Amino acid sequence: MDSPTSSGTPRIVIVGGGAGGLELAARLGQTLGQSKVTLVDSRPFHIWKPSLHEVAAGTLDIHQEGLSYLMLAHMRGFTFARGELLAVDRERRMIRIGKVVDAAGQTILPERELHYDTLVLALGSISNFFNTPGAAEYAVTLDSTDAAEAFRLTMLKNMAQVDQARASDPQAHLRLVIVGGGATGVELAVELREASHVISAYGLRNFEPERDLAITLVEGAPRILSPLSEKISRAAHARLARLGIQVETQCRVAQITPSEVHTADGRTFPADLCVWAAGIQGPPVLASLGLPLNRLGQLEVNARLETPDPHILALGDCCAAPWAEGKNVPARAQAAHQQADYLAGKILARVQGEDEGESEDSGEPYVYRDNGSLVSLGREAGVGSLMGKLSGRGLFVSGTLARWMYMSLHLMHHRAVLGFWRTAALALARLLMRRTQPRVKLH
Ligand SMILES: Cc1cc2nc3c(=O)[nH]c(=O)nc-3n(C[C@H](O)[C@H](O)[C@H](O)COP(=O)(O)OP(=O)(O)OC[C@H]3O[C@@H](n4cnc5c(N)ncnc54)[C@H](O)[C@@H]3O)c2cc1C
Repeated sequence: MDSPTSSGTPRIVIVGGGAGGLELAARLGQTLGQSKVTLVDSRPFHIWKPSLHEVAAGTLDIHQEGLSYLMLAHMRGFTFARGELLAVDRERRMIRIGKVVDAAGQTILPERELHYDTLVLALGSISNFFNTPGAAEYAVTLDSTDAAEAFRLTMLKNMAQVDQARASDPQAHLRLVIVGGGATGVELAVELREASHVISAYGLRNFEPERDLAITLVEGAPRILSPLSEKISRAAHARLARLGIQVETQCRVAQITPSEVHTADGRTFPADLCVWAAGIQGPPVLASLGLPLNRLGQLEVNARLETPDPHILALGDCCAAPWAEGKNVPARAQAAHQQADYLAGKILARVQGEDEGESEDSGEPYVYRDNGSLVSLGREAGVGSLMGKLSGRGLFVSGTLARWMYMSLHLMHHRAVLGFWRTAALALARLLMRRTQPRVKLH
């Protein structure tokens, strides 16, 4: 056990090394150092969650893209503790993290406790099935790198099976239904269609992507990408149609079985595979903290990202922070990034204040700035809007420009975590590697 008095310095523990938590650990570690800042994550390496649809399609290789937390901890001056958060003892200010086992089930690290003075919860979210019968059992999600990688392997296997079957059965094909026409569902549909072309070109002689892989996107709202403008929605819809992806709107899923998706209005879509991308909720561990949660199981925080416990702060998808007109800050990487920035400033000011004998936290509240939205529509295209700083109105962008801007968001995250020069070197190395390898991971 790690005792509160063992170091004598205030401990900041961040749980969750994702889009927001990792950026925060990197910022704080650089200034405060390893003895004060600890990052906890259940996984050994980091993948930026908005790229999980690329992992699922095989267009992004986790073994090349993954950034080891131990390496980042060494570079950016924080301590990394691997393990899943199991419980928080708020009275003793201790967190319990689960043991880590290897593939053979051997214990690498035991279950253990860590002391905190300030705990930042940055656990992200999990899929919300909204109690739809069969969804948890038969639909897959893109909640984690492992889930996206497992999906990739299943797709590869199924496509190879259809390729084999085609030799004797001219009807053999693969039917994929994606539930949820938000950014995740739309991006996944396009990425999979493009990936299927590359995969078939590398040895699936009988497999014709448009004919043998039927992709259906099912959305409950009247249009896909409904939180974005109608223009963006129309442009994305047109691109999906061009790629032969069937889009069904105003279509609420009522039940999922091992081979079908049933809708509330009585329609049935045959499905060999079903992906659920229709909403999020807070991770279940949050319910054990005894802190207020909203109806989606997210921690309720105030505009300073504080919970009612003065030692616990939260950021990103796992919390509901107030925004304009009674709404909450949306669950997006953009918000997690801004909140990490905000909390870095707040925590540094707090530590400095404590060093100088002040205990008041007089910082400004966090205000979400919507910089617009970009949706990737494959290798060469994207669509979205950028918020004008002066007008506050969205500027429509599409095509290659939108795709480049989308990719630059990933690079900005890398820059926040790795620094400018390492990000530049990494980007160049990856560009060169792409010249020597197929665009899709085939093994
Ligand atoms: C396919 C996909 C595409 C997306 N595209 C976009 C996009 O284009 N733009 C955009 O703004 N947003 C996008 N999002 C949403 C975006 O990914 C999230 O809003 C963002 O990642 C939230 O950041 P976070 O730091 O809160 O959590 P995350 O980035 O999810 O990180 C959470 C971290 O916590 C760790 N963790 C979870 N539970 C535990 C535990 N019990 N113990 C220890 N560690 C734990 C996880 O391993 C993970 O590292 C997309 C999401 C998906 C799935």
